[in-house]
This record gives sequence, C-alpha cells and structure tokens, in this order.
Amino acid sequence: MLVVAIIGLVMTAVTLVLATRRVLWLKRLATVGQPAPERVEYAKANVGTEIKTQLVEVLGQRKLLKWTPSGVAHAFVMWAFIILATVYLEAYGVLIQGMFTGEAYFHIPIVGTWPILGFLQDFIAVACVLGLVAFAVIRIRNSPKSQGRDSRFSGSHLGGAWLVLFMIFNVIWTMFLFRGAALNSGNFPYQSGAFASEVTAKLLKPLGVPANELLEKIGLLLHIGVMLVFLIIVVHSKHMHIFTAPINVLFSRRPDGLGAVPEMRSGGKVLDFEEADPDVDLFGRGKIEDFTWKGFLDFYTCTECGRCQSQCPAWNTEKPLSPKMLVLDLRDHAFAKAPYLLASEEERANLPEAVLKEAERPLVGEDGVIHPDVLWSCTNCGACVEQCPVDIEHIDHILDMRRYQVMIESSFPSEAGVMLKNLENKGNPWGMSEMKRAEWIEELDFEVPIVDEKMPADMEYLFWVGCAGALEDRAKKTTKAIAELLHIAGVSFGVLGPMEACTGDPARRLGMEFLFNMLAQQNIETLNEAGVKKIVASCPHCFNTLANEYPQLGGTYEVVHHTQLLAKLVDEGRLTPITPIEEKITYHDPCFLGRHNKVYAQPRDIMAKVPGVQTQEMHRCKDRGFCCGAGGARMWMEERIGKRINTERIEEALETDPDTVSTACPFCLVMLGDAISEKKNSGAAKESLEVVDVAQLLIKSVKGEAATP
Ligand code: SF4
Ligand code: SF4
Repeated sequence: MLVVAIIGLVMTAVTLVLATRRVLWLKRLATVGQPAPERVEYAKANVGTEIKTQLVEVLGQRKLLKWTPSGVAHAFVMWAFIILATVYLEAYGVLIQGMFTGEAYFHIPIVGTWPILGFLQDFIAVACVLGLVAFAVIRIRNSPKSQGRDSRFSGSHLGGAWLVLFMIFNVIWTMFLFRGAALNSGNFPYQSGAFASEVTAKLLKPLGVPANELLEKIGLLLHIGVMLVFLIIVVHSKHMHIFTAPINVLFSRRPDGLGAVPEMRSGGKVLDFEEADPDVDLFGRGKIEDFTWKGFLDFYTCTECGRCQSQCPAWNTEKPLSPKMLVLDLRDHAFAKAPYLLASEEERANLPEAVLKEAERPLVGEDGVIHPDVLWSCTNCGACVEQCPVDIEHIDHILDMRRYQVMIESSFPSEAGVMLKNLENKGNPWGMSEMKRAEWIEELDFEVPIVDEKMPADMEYLFWVGCAGALEDRAKKTTKAIAELLHIAGVSFGVLGPMEACTGDPARRLGMEFLFNMLAQQNIETLNEAGVKKIVASCPHCFNTLANEYPQLGGTYEVVHHTQLLAKLVDEGRLTPITPIEEKITYHDPCFLGRHNKVYAQPRDIMAKVPGVQTQEMHRCKDRGFCCGAGGARMWMEERIGKRINTERIEEALETDPDTVSTACPFCLVMLGDAISEKKNSGAAKESLEVVDVAQLLIKSVKGEAATP
C-alpha cells in the first residue's frame, strides 16, 4: 500500500503544480485587462442576492433546465461533480492512511459510513452515466455534419467535447472498480446503500480476495490518475467553465446583462464626456486588452454550447454573426496575443513572428479578429444573453467594440450616418421638424395638454410619445389609440410635444455615446424642470432607455410601458372592451419589451380581455421570441447579407394562419408591416392581413369601429 500511496501522492503533487501554473497564467492574463471595480463593489454590497443567484443559477441550473433533455443531463453531471468529490476524499484518505499505516481502509469522519452517503454517491454516478449517454445522443443528433449551420454545435470544438465525455466516463468506471474491489477486500466503509458498487463487487468476487486487493489498488490509482489528467484538460479547454462559471455568474450584471447599456468606463471610472480625452481615456474597446478582467472571464467561461447561436436572429438569417463564435474569436485572440501581453518591453523584441503578427492584428477590421459585418449585424435583441447558461454579456462586448469604431475610427455603415446627423440637428432620426411632433394631437377630438413648463399637480402621467410614435404614419395610429384609451379611462396626462427629443437609444446602440449623452441630458433637463415623476412610454426602446439608462445620468422616474398601464386600467374596470373582434391573432414580442424588460404578460392579458379574439402563439415566443430586425440601430442600416430578419419572422407568423399580427412597438410595427406588404405582393399573405399594436385592438373593442383612424 505504501508504494501505491507514494505513486498517487507524487502524481497529485506534479499535477497540482502544472494546474496551478496554468490558473495563475490565466489570472495574470485576465488582469492585463481593465479594472471593473463596480462588479466587485456590487457583489460585496449584495451578498444575499449573490448567494441566491449562485443557488438558483449555478446549483439549481435554472437556465440549463429550460432546455429540458440537455438541461437534465447537465444537472446530473454537475451534481456528480459535487457529490463525487466525497469519493475523491475517500480515495485520498486511503492514500494518506496507506502512507502512514499501510492499511487500505478509510472513512470520512462521522458521515463516512452512513448508507445514505454510499447510496447518493452511487446514484449520482449512475445518473451521470445516463447524462453522458444523453449528451452523446444530443451531440450525434445535432451534429454539424448532418445539420450544418443549423446545428448549435457548428463552430464549437467538437473533439474536445467528446474527449471530456470520455474522461467523465473514465472517472465513473474507475470509481466502481475501486469501490467494488474494496468491498470484496473488506475495505469498503458502507455496509449498505451503495447499490451499484455492490453489483460491481458481485461481478468481481469470483476472482478471489488477492485479486480483488490488487484491483482495489489499481482502481484507486486509475481513479485518481483519470481525475488528474482530467484536471489538466479542464484548465486548458472550454471545460474551464467548471471552475470559472460560478465566478462569472458572481460578477455578472444584475439582474442580467440586458436592459441598460452600461456607462462607458476608462480605468474603472465612468467617463465624464466634458473632460474625457480620447488620447488618454479608453473610448470603447479597440484592443483585446481594453476589455475588463470580467470580459476575459467571459471569454474563458464560454462552454461552446451554442445556445446563443441557435437563438440569434442574425445567425438564423445567414449573417456572419454568431454570438458564440464572437466570444470564441475574442478568446482565441486573447490566448494568441498573451505572450506579447505578458512580456516586458525587452522580451517582446524576441517573441516569435506569429505572436507579433497576432499582437498587431486589429480587433475589428477586414483582417481583424472580428469582421465589421459581424459587428454590425447585431440587433441587440438579447436572445444570446437570455440563453447563455454562464451569464456571458455579449451585447456589452459588441457595443464596446462599436463605441471604439464609431467614436475613434469613425467607421460604421454609412447609412447610419444620416440618422446620426438627423439626431444631432433635429432630435429625431428622420430629420423632421420638431413642430411636427404634436401634429397627431390635431387629429383627436379631445385636448391633449402640452407640458411646456411645470407639469400641473393634478396631471398623473407624462405620455412619452417617441419619435416614431409622433412622426411615423403607422406608429401614429398607436399613439392616437393610447391617447384615446387614457382619455376614456380618465387618466390625466400630457405630452412634451416639440420639447421631446429622441431618447438617444439609436445613437447609443450604434456606439455613438457622445450623442446619446447629449440627447439624454437635454431630455433629463426638460423632464426635471417640468417636475415629471411618472412616464408612460409607447416605444419599448424609449421605455428601456428612460427606465434603465436615464438613472445613470440623474434622470430617475417611474416608467411604465403603455401595455402595462392599459392592462392595469382594464383590470380596474376603467377600460371595458365590449365590441367583439372575431379574429385569430398572433402576438410578436418586441425584444426591448420582452427580453430586455420582462414584459410578456400584459400585452397578452389585454388581448385575452377582448371578446372574440383567438390568440395563437408563434413557434418562437416570449423569452425565445425572434427579433423583427430593427434593434441595435439596425433600423437605420441596410440589410444586405442573408435573408431579411423581418421576412423570417413574418413567415413564422404566417404559419399560425393569422387574421392579424399584433405587437407593442412602433419599430416592430414598421418592420413586420413591410414584410407583410412583400408577402401580399407575392401572394403569400392574404390582403386583409395587417399588423397592429395591442392598443389599437383595445381601442377598437372599447370604442367600436369608430376609433380615430
Ligand atoms: S443580441 Fe441578438 S443579434 Fe446580437 S448577437 Fe445576441 S442574439 Fe445575435
Ligand atoms: S456564449 Fe454562452 S450560450 Fe453561447 S456558446 Fe458560450 S456558453 Fe453557450
């Protein structure tokens, strides 16, 4: 036993040295990145939230379990990783015991002979094998060889994944060899409970005690050896997530990486645009080392599962953007550039040519790490962030790279330049006169007060109309419907009219943070001077910006989306839908209302209250809804690559054979409306099919057919 113990402990010591060196190297590389003190401060100040998040997201596997078969399989394997640590404790106990006494019997103090522990160990090991079988089946059925681009594993390191499954299988069978033989040698601590080890023991018993004693030692060394090899593989592969995922989740944005775009920071401090200097401060990310250590942690943690890729509207319409591959490209570049980043000035001169070449590679560019077509394809829909089981913040990274491209390189799709100029000069993306913002009011048969100074004390809400709602013909119908509904319900409200300017969302999502700041500060000044407390917004992009981003600049208001307020008014009996609408309706979730702000129920609640409406969900809905293609400032860019996203979405809607498509966003209204027109022209959609806002449906039912057109 002494020899076995020495071999086992020496193997362990060597492996620990190698693994520790790798971990320290990874840490050094991550800390080449920028500081992110806000992440540490938040975690320290919200210990309760962080513990709950670890319990729900990491131990409870909340996001993974949404994908039932693979989620259950992963939960088995992850729990095996935790519970089988007790078997390794026993194995090392035997080694250390053997070192000093020459005996091969050991049990964990107190609990180490309890049948329940023996049972749990065997149960989770068997469940883990079932999990491995499920993984193998899922990988074969979703193989990129058979499914091509549609496979979520397309672009992942497939060989590495199979190797890890094989290594986990080795952990399990060596465990049973060790335990079964130990039972026959009289060295097993459990009298009962360890059912699978007992079966192994029965199979090995005919070999006799001496053979079982030898097999016990071989099993012990193999079990430990496999784990040590596995440890080395883990710290050099995507399976690093076993250790980094809980840390990544701990330092992720709360409640998630959706909603607000984080402020621009340089050296860990929020940039003040009055004083910021592009020669000194970081304006977004222009090099890999401009990412924060949290960014590096994101890159290390990607499991290559492809859940993000499978939901991405850009990837699903043949564009070059895959959120998974974006993260992997950044990771690969970080590793390839690491020798340069970690070297001193003198050492850099002696680095191999390949490393120096990689160090000079632009982060974004035709020959860069990220191709511009990849960067500009993102609609900021949030499907990737929503699905990622390890809380990687794709949108933040994309926007940080866009910021550098726009503000430092002045490099972005030229069409978007017109939108920026219009925002700067006219305060709206279309460049229309601000006086036109109140024209819709003249089409109503009641007064809508324009708040040009202080908001009257008896006025409850400021109705934030938004640029589209005020200026775009189709969206204006929604605006009028909302105003009429509020009027009927007796809600006192006013609008800013010509004083309202774009919230700055399209500028910010494009990466033009200067302009966003300018517009946001102007609006916040107007709102604060008017003494606004409560806002109802009709555009989900405005809603998201006002509610989640304006607090960053000192504008804090109680903001609701019109569907939230209208659902409440219907609930309270202040609005009564009475006229039946005998139609089959499918609802499209706007990304900035649903995924970014979790408003899924209220638009559906409103439709459920309208008599006659028969609703039918699309195949992709709620948190798995599919974008219309307008977010992330994509509304203002040409869609030249692949299939149009709005066409893909409307084809899904047509599968439900609807009479009407409903939504709750002016941009979705325009995008889906355009796609429906195309389908009508080609005869693929019926002439009567239209897309309307939920508010238009409600006013039709509340008021009858006489609603303002
Ligand atoms: S935000 Fe949407 S479009 Fe952008 S990478 Fe993620 S899934 Fe794709
Ligand atoms: S980014 Fe997240 S969802 Fe996408 S492949 Fe990596 S771990 Fe999976």
